[in-house]
Amino acid sequence: MQDAFGRKIEYLRLSVTDLCNYRCVYCMSAAGVCKKARSEILSLEELAEIGAAAVRCGVKKIRLTGGEPLLRPGIVSLCRMLRAVEGLEELTLTTNGSLLPAMAKELRSAGVDRLNVSVDSLDSTRFRSITRRGTLADVQRGLAAAREAGFENTKLNVVLLGGINDDEIRDFAALTKDTDYCVRFIELMPMGVCAAWPRERFLSAQAVLTAVPELEMIGGDGVAELYRVPGSRGTVGLIRAMSGCFCARCNRIRVTADGKLKPCLHSAAEFPLRGKHGAALEQAIREAAARKPAGHRLTQCECSETPRAMNEIGG
Ligand code: SAM
Ligand code: SF4
Repeated sequence: MQDAFGRKIEYLRLSVTDLCNYRCVYCMSAAGVCKKARSEILSLEELAEIGAAAVRCGVKKIRLTGGEPLLRPGIVSLCRMLRAVEGLEELTLTTNGSLLPAMAKELRSAGVDRLNVSVDSLDSTRFRSITRRGTLADVQRGLAAAREAGFENTKLNVVLLGGINDDEIRDFAALTKDTDYCVRFIELMPMGVCAAWPRERFLSAQAVLTAVPELEMIGGDGVAELYRVPGSRGTVGLIRAMSGCFCARCNRIRVTADGKLKPCLHSAAEFPLRGKHGAALEQAIREAAARKPAGHRLTQCECSETPRAMNEIGG
């Protein structure tokens, strides 16, 4: 499946819920979200049907996300249904890690290939103040459970928050010394609650190269630049969501938990998929993907044009 600019669309991010047990300060308000009626959210069967149709259209990788995807009842069966889709090369999941202690093993047996675990501080007090509700020890137990369950090359997502966690950049990079983690520093994007934050919170990923000058570039992985601290087992990734525009290489589409296909994270354009099946569903996916804009306008508009908050899209 190609868009109008010749980009091959091979990656679907499928959001299974907009609910979350955390309230990360840059992602959600303290009050959380207004819970949608159950009927507004795609059923497990609808999610699996959309995933399978996307694969028939050429998608090779599906990432499940949220909100917090592990809160979604039936998430393990959904993983099993998607894993059974012929032609799907990789099934991954992005999570805050809090529920992994209980679920890592089941997810692995259901066929999840890899995990992204978000962790924005290695200090338990700071972790709590960023997530408002989270406990760092739960995530650390979750990472250990994932390793025991057989997950390898787990990616740790760290959103760079100027004046909040930038003094921990070296500590995060040090985690790669004896592990196979890829610690990925993500530039904060002005969306939802953080759109009005002061400029100093929005750090360029350059701050990582300044804090860890020994990093050596080793290549790229999708939208991430990849580095290694010499002698370390794991890697460090930089996702320049703001300072570097990777739209020309973007190969992804997103589907929200209420069934709207978003060809671009930052655009307001959405295409409803609900109620469509078989060939009609495939056609709707292809048509929406074809409408992917050339790029976002974050730098011109100062903030994202999507009215949705990140927990309603999934990252
Ligand atoms: N709850 C799961 C988690 O936190 O991993 C999955 C959903 S969360 C929306 C996916 C990713 O988006 C997380 O790594 C989170 O840190 C990141 N994120 C949320 N808001 C962001 C923003 N404004 N800019 C950059 N990344 C953001
Ligand atoms: Fe929840 Fe993830 Fe948003 Fe944090 S970043 S509030 S864990 S959805």
